Amino acid sequence: MNKLIKLSRSTVEKYITCPRCCFLEKIYDIRPPSLPFTLNLAVDNLCKNEFDFYRERQEPHPLFNKYNIDAIPFKHSEIDNWKNNYKGIRYKSAKYQYDFGGAIDDIWEKSNGELIIADIKATSRNNFNWNDTWNKYDYPKSYKRQLEMYQWLFKMNGFQVSNDAYIIYFNGKKDEKFFHNKLEFETHVIKLNCSTDWVEPKIIETVELLRSNTFPSPSQKCENCNYLKKRWNLSKNLKIK
Ligand code: SF4
Repeated sequence: MNKLIKLSRSTVEKYITCPRCCFLEKIYDIRPPSLPFTLNLAVDNLCKNEFDFYRERQEPHPLFNKYNIDAIPFKHSEIDNWKNNYKGIRYKSAKYQYDFGGAIDDIWEKSNGELIIADIKATSRNNFNWNDTWNKYDYPKSYKRQLEMYQWLFKMNGFQVSNDAYIIYFNGKKDEKFFHNKLEFETHVIKLNCSTDWVEPKIIETVELLRSNTFPSPSQKCENCNYLKKRWNLSKNLKIK
């Protein structure tokens, strides 16, 4: 019997974008340095508090009325665990010996009982446009996959889950005349039509990689490894360490 592998949705996301990074992180505990996005986390937290206020009252958030979302924030005894990065919602497969989990930002309940998974993002860009961002970059696809992995987790835990998911995107306005210690945001509520068909096959592929002795190739697009490659080549040419 294989040993149980515990993995998160970000491990699977790493497997999709760069299997080498996934392998280095899980097997060798080596990861590229990253900075904490403290301002984004503050926005995340404030927005979550707001949803908790309406969850307590079992009333729709004002954004739901504005964007025609027939739902209220979902009230459940596990909600705080599901939103906790150290706990989250999990599913264990006895057949494939994995324990997979992730922590949501928020979850809403439609009037027909289906659950909607929502994620909060913050940025600060001139003329933010989701469709342009989607067409131009890879990262919005990873946001969608994130929501699809959460949807799958809720389905596997016996909940009825809507195919619709939402990203609430807060765009900080940086061209205001005065600061007054206050950052103003414009809000974009983005509805995504999701599918969870791909989720378990990718979890299984990730687990298979982590059980193998294969050291995977790096992503060709990654700035970190490209930086290292250039740095090594320069060192070799100049014969320096
Ligand atoms: S290519 Fe990037 S993502 Fe992949 S191993 Fe290198 S640093 Fe990690």
